[in-house]
Amino acid sequence: MRIHAVQSGLVTIKTCQCYGKGHGAMRLVNTILDRNWTEPLPIYSWAIEHQEGIILIDTGETARTLEPGYFPWWNPYFQFSIKPCLQPEDEVNFRLRALGIEPNDVRWVILTHLHTDHIGGLHHFPNAEIIISRKEYELTNGWSGQLRGYLTQRWPEWLAPTLIDYEPHPLGTFLESFTLTKAGDVSLIPTEGHTGGHLSVLLQIDGLSLFFAGDASYTQQLMLDQIVDGVAQDEDKSRQTLKQILQYVQEFPTVYLPSHDPSAAQRLAARTIVSV
Ligand SMILES: [Zn+2]
Repeated sequence: MRIHAVQSGLVTIKTCQCYGKGHGAMRLVNTILDRNWTEPLPIYSWAIEHQEGIILIDTGETARTLEPGYFPWWNPYFQFSIKPCLQPEDEVNFRLRALGIEPNDVRWVILTHLHTDHIGGLHHFPNAEIIISRKEYELTNGWSGQLRGYLTQRWPEWLAPTLIDYEPHPLGTFLESFTLTKAGDVSLIPTEGHTGGHLSVLLQIDGLSLFFAGDASYTQQLMLDQIVDGVAQDEDKSRQTLKQILQYVQEFPTVYLPSHDPSAAQRLAARTIVSV
């Protein structure tokens, strides 16, 4: 089974977004006011050439974010705290074709959550089944969804996702899961906190767990250090999730693959497991 890291450009964020500071609403304020920027971080999606069909985890960012007015003018996070950097040819459709994958051949698009740098390339996949956690999708509704930073007005009009509810099937340290494939090797697990309905994808292969973590933590080190990010919708939940992930990787040989970790593609290629 071929598995690919698919990079759609880079994003620079505030240091306080990686290392959250303060509590409650102050965490976001501290992120916005922070004067220090991270190095440019990759934006990864992941393509699995599974025998039951091609699975794409997240869709990266769209180059349209560079157009004036793409981000809402009233939202200080988008105006002052995020700098995406990509060209149209960095979008996921071009990147997949370079790997020999036709976007129309993707069977499932799983979205770990609905932040712009994960759903930005979704318009390239009108023929795929789009899979989202029910909780995450419901959090995007209305004005409160806008305040949470979901850009629903930018989503494709055809979007009619399959909303998943978890089943009481424990998977390692996770009490609930949703099995996607008939083979039973691809499961979705709730890793909430960064967003209220955030999920991760687990692929069991050759005795290893490939853990596609979305933004459950931005990097492997931040997970090992149990650092909650500065924009997490639920700080406590995020802390619990990080603990569960750490327990999981201590118990099972795991290749841990967050969406913005500069070393993630290398770890996938070398099947480097987390050492704790
Ligand atoms: Zn995110």
